[in-house]
Amino acid sequence: MTPNVNYKQLKENYLFFEISRRVAEFQKSHPEKEILRMGIGDVTLPLCRAVVDAIKKAATDMGNATTFHGYGPEQGYDFLREKIQAYYAESDVRLELSEIFISDGAKSDLGNILDLFDLNNTVLIPDPVYPVYVDTNIMNGRNIIFAEANEENGFLPMPDASIAADIIYLCSPNNPTGAVYSRDQLKTWVDYANRKHAVILFDAAYESFITDQTLPRSIFEIEGAKTCAVEFCSLSKTAGFTGTRCGYTVVPNALELEGMNFNKMWLRRQTTKFNGVSYIVQKGAEAVFSTEGRKQIQENIAYYRKNASIITQTLDKLGIWYTGGKNSPYIWLRCPNKMDAWTFFDKLLTETGIVGTPGAGFGKQGTDFFRLTAFSTNENTGKAMEKFLDLLTGP
Ligand code: PLP
Repeated sequence: MTPNVNYKQLKENYLFFEISRRVAEFQKSHPEKEILRMGIGDVTLPLCRAVVDAIKKAATDMGNATTFHGYGPEQGYDFLREKIQAYYAESDVRLELSEIFISDGAKSDLGNILDLFDLNNTVLIPDPVYPVYVDTNIMNGRNIIFAEANEENGFLPMPDASIAADIIYLCSPNNPTGAVYSRDQLKTWVDYANRKHAVILFDAAYESFITDQTLPRSIFEIEGAKTCAVEFCSLSKTAGFTGTRCGYTVVPNALELEGMNFNKMWLRRQTTKFNGVSYIVQKGAEAVFSTEGRKQIQENIAYYRKNASIITQTLDKLGIWYTGGKNSPYIWLRCPNKMDAWTFFDKLLTETGIVGTPGAGFGKQGTDFFRLTAFSTNENTGKAMEKFLDLLTGP
C-alpha cells in the first residue's frame, strides 16, 4: 500500500482557522465589543417561499407509494434540466438536454471533473483564486502554473501566447476579486484554448449577480466555447442553496479532443460514481426557475446587492481602489495606507470589530488586498461600513 503522497504537498488551509483564532482571542479580551462579520461566503437569507413549498410537496410525494421516487437518472431529472435549458436560451445559448448534468453543487464537480484529464496535463490557475482549483490538482499531482491577477489587469489575467497550458480555470464573476470578464476578454481566452487544444473549466457560480447586460453570464455565450469549455454553476448563492446542495454542470457534446468526447466521458463517470441528486432537492431547484421563484430569488439578490452598494459607496468616499461589488457579491480592495492584509485585518478587528478576509489567503497576489462580502444583513453591513468610514477618516 502506498498512500497518495501528493496530500503532503497541500498547504494547511489555515486562513479561516487563523481568522477564527484571532477573532476568538479579541472577543476574550474585549467581550463587550460587537463583532461584525463582513467576510462570510455563506448566505444569510433563508430559502424563498416557492422553493420551500416545492420541497414540502416533494417530501409528501416520497411518502406516497404512487408518487414515490427511488434512484433517479444520474444526470438529473428532465423536469429540472428542461428549466435550465430554457434559462440558458434566454441568453441565446442553445443546449441539448444531454449537455446538462445536475450536481450536488459546483464544488464537487469542480473536483470530480479532473477524472477526465491525464495527470501529465499542465494547469493554469489565476492568482488569487478560489482554493479548490489548486488543492484538487495538488491532490492529483498535476503541474500548476499561475496567471498573475493584479491591479494593472483589473484582476482579470489574459492569456500569454508563450505559455502552454492544457487545463485553464476561469471564474467570472470571480471569487475572491468580484472582477468579471467582458465578452471580448472571454473570446480571447476561448480562441487561445481552441488554438492550444486546451480545456477551460469555467466557474459561473456567481452569474446571477451580473446586472450589466453587456457582460456574459455563461462562457457559452462566446462563439467557439463549445469546443473548449465546461461550465460549472450553482444554486448556492443564486437561491440560498448552500445547505440544500444543488448545482449543474454543462459539458458540450462538441467538446472532443484527441478523439475522445468529454460529454460521453462525463456521463460514463457520473453513471459509475454518482447516483444523482435527491428528488426532493431537484424539485426545490425546479422551483427556483418558476415565475414565483425567479421573482423571490431576485428579491434576495437585490438585498445582497444593496449591501454591495453600501460597501462600494464607502470605498468610493474614501478613494480606496477595489474591484467587484457591481456585478458580484465580493468586493476586493487594496488595503489602505500601504498596510498588508493581515495588518489591516488586525486593525479593523481591534478598532471596529469588523471581520473581513485577508487577500493573502487566496494567493501571493492577494498579499496587500482584502475581501469584503455582501452576504451579511443590511443592518450589519450599514453599521460596519459606518465604522469603516470613521476608522479611515478619523484623526
Ligand atoms: N465556486 C466558487 C467560485 C465558489 O466561491 C463556491 C463557493 O463558495 C463554489 C464554487 C461552491 O459552490 P457550491 O456551494 O455549489 O458547491
